[in-house]
Amino acid sequence: MTIPDITIAVDGYSSTGKSTFAKMVAKEFGFLYLDSGAMYRGVTLFAMEGGMAPDGKINEDALKKALPGLDLHFQREDDKTLLYSGSRCIEPLIRTLEVSALVSPVSAIPFVRAWVDEHLHAFSEGGRVIMDGRDIGTTVFPNAEVKIFMTAEPAVRAQRRFDELVSKGENPSLEDVMKNLQERDYIDSHRETSPLRQADDAFVLDNTHMTLHEELVWMLGLLQGKFTLLETPGITW
Ligand code: C5P
Repeated sequence: MTIPDITIAVDGYSSTGKSTFAKMVAKEFGFLYLDSGAMYRGVTLFAMEGGMAPDGKINEDALKKALPGLDLHFQREDDKTLLYSGSRCIEPLIRTLEVSALVSPVSAIPFVRAWVDEHLHAFSEGGRVIMDGRDIGTTVFPNAEVKIFMTAEPAVRAQRRFDELVSKGENPSLEDVMKNLQERDYIDSHRETSPLRQADDAFVLDNTHMTLHEELVWMLGLLQGKFTLLETPGITW
């Protein structure tokens, strides 16, 4: 079955499994996967390491001056797409609870959003991309052929993020993880510049009670219906 060269936008609340879903779809159907949240996390780490966020207060003037010198890019290694800052892989550093605590205020700053958007467009040239984030279907790619809005019950989302952090050697409390998700969802949905919201033409995927295989079957059904693809391929997941 041939899926055309389209852009797929995946948006939704924190820890709804957007990146897991998008990576799986990318692998199954041969798309480039881009994680826009990683870019915001990379900018946040840059601000923290450069002393531009003392005590969690962002020095916007300093960040605005320094941002053009930041070189963030993705590198594919085996099955993974990793974020680099110059020649340094910063993938593990951007997933900590400390970065999570500051990333939403940083990503609410309009010049940060403009900088990230420009890079996301440059990385996507050539098309056949699946990108996940908060404003992909509404702002970054408003003309994406397929838009998905993901959601899941808060307790399930917190447990998923908690398990992910523990598997990476962190020792968070479930309560702190839940608090961080709620705070980020609030800031992300209430900021002035491109807030998180469901695009009018997005399909909702609530995966509270779904396995990855069921999510992929759901996606396949959506693509088959949308592009009138008659053949049903075997799914590897
Ligand atoms: O997807 P992830 O949880 O890694 O994103 C981290 C944060 O980056 C989000 O909570 C949000 O504040 C910000 N973000 C955004 N717009 C995007 C992607 C992420 O504002 N397109």
